Amino acid sequence: MGGKPSTGLLSYEKLMECTHCGLCLPYCPTYRELGVEMDSPRGRVYLVKALEDRRVRATERLALHLELCVGCRACETACPSNVSFGHILEHGRSLLGDRSSVSGWWSHLLYCHVLPKKNRINRLGRLLRLLQRSPWPHILDYPAFHGIVPDELRHAVDVLTTLPVTPQQDLQRVYRGASENRLTAGLLVCCMMRVLMTDVNQATVRVLNHTGSDVIVPQGQECCGALHAHAGLLEEARRLAMVNILAFEVSGVDVIVTNSAGCGAHMKEYTRLFPESDGWRERARRFSEKVRDVSELLHSLGLSDGLERLPVKVAYDDPCHLLHGQGIGNEPRELLERIPGLELISLKESDWCCGSAGTYMFTEGEMALRLLRRKLEDIVSSGADIVATGNPGCLLWIAWGLRREGIPVTCLHPVQLLDMALQ
Ligand code: SF4
Ligand code: SF4
Repeated sequence: MGGKPSTGLLSYEKLMECTHCGLCLPYCPTYRELGVEMDSPRGRVYLVKALEDRRVRATERLALHLELCVGCRACETACPSNVSFGHILEHGRSLLGDRSSVSGWWSHLLYCHVLPKKNRINRLGRLLRLLQRSPWPHILDYPAFHGIVPDELRHAVDVLTTLPVTPQQDLQRVYRGASENRLTAGLLVCCMMRVLMTDVNQATVRVLNHTGSDVIVPQGQECCGALHAHAGLLEEARRLAMVNILAFEVSGVDVIVTNSAGCGAHMKEYTRLFPESDGWRERARRFSEKVRDVSELLHSLGLSDGLERLPVKVAYDDPCHLLHGQGIGNEPRELLERIPGLELISLKESDWCCGSAGTYMFTEGEMALRLLRRKLEDIVSSGADIVATGNPGCLLWIAWGLRREGIPVTCLHPVQLLDMALQ
């Protein structure tokens, strides 16, 4: 068995690594909710292999089983055979053609014409700010608009206009740290952070500067391509990876830092986007070796001096792509515990997905809501004042849920709490 060429970059052997043991099933959010084998990791690996073998066609039903996966990679953590489920899922989605959820007009517009261009993302940010100040998010909910504006788009506008309006602040090219033997960190500016959470970026820069590090924001960078890869748009993901590899090579930074777990997990695996024979593969490997999540970097730099008292109760929720995608769970918790007065309280099922999963919260709204409801119940029962999580999708989705349910808990990035303690 094996040795059969795959149509994509995933080798056929990868599809054969699943032994069908089923040990991952109890950790899969969609299997827990639905109890359907084809909505489990094992079932999905089977479907992708059947697609690859051309034993089945990409029907609407098959596509739904693959699209319903939140891509949390909890199955990878649980799997004793080290099955690369995330890569298998991306490959499977790349085989869906016009059955894919990104084949709709507005998804196509977002993925192919907005996300790949920084200036268009900035324009989208300005549009969202205008919408936030207008009655349109409510007007779009009137029955007259149902059927005219797609449900997914109306839901997306509602979620994307949740966070308080903050002025868009473009980052400078260089922020100098105080130390002489300083590290130079190149910041990857996540698209969602750029338009909706500029305060998280500012906090990231301030905290890194406090450790003595210089922060450089390479100008040629674009979207990291994580959303494209997860949706199976592997050609576009590859092109964006090349743009970023070049931009960070030119900048000559020591490390590449990101405050977005989804971007970090994807950039640490850029190599997989290039075949063995491709010269870009080695450049991708060198790039990926330098990538650090901000919590990972701050932890390794030993941040602790200058943290002032912050008397708040914080529950930490693991972003799936930080915990399962990068194996980082202790570092953010230990950083938060270094803040005097901050009480880190335990959150039940903190390692389970909140349902945000990139654009999943818009395209698979029903399942995303089911997962969010469980998360909100756990947050409420924890008794926390603040829930901290290091991924923009989770921040946005949980904040939207808290607001919708009238729950008086604030959702912040851990770096924002560190920044508050430093001021
Ligand atoms: S990635 Fe998450 S939702 Fe998808 S199969 Fe694995 S555990 Fe289930
Ligand atoms: S993905 Fe891993 S844990 Fe799940 S059935 Fe296959 S081998 Fe077993």
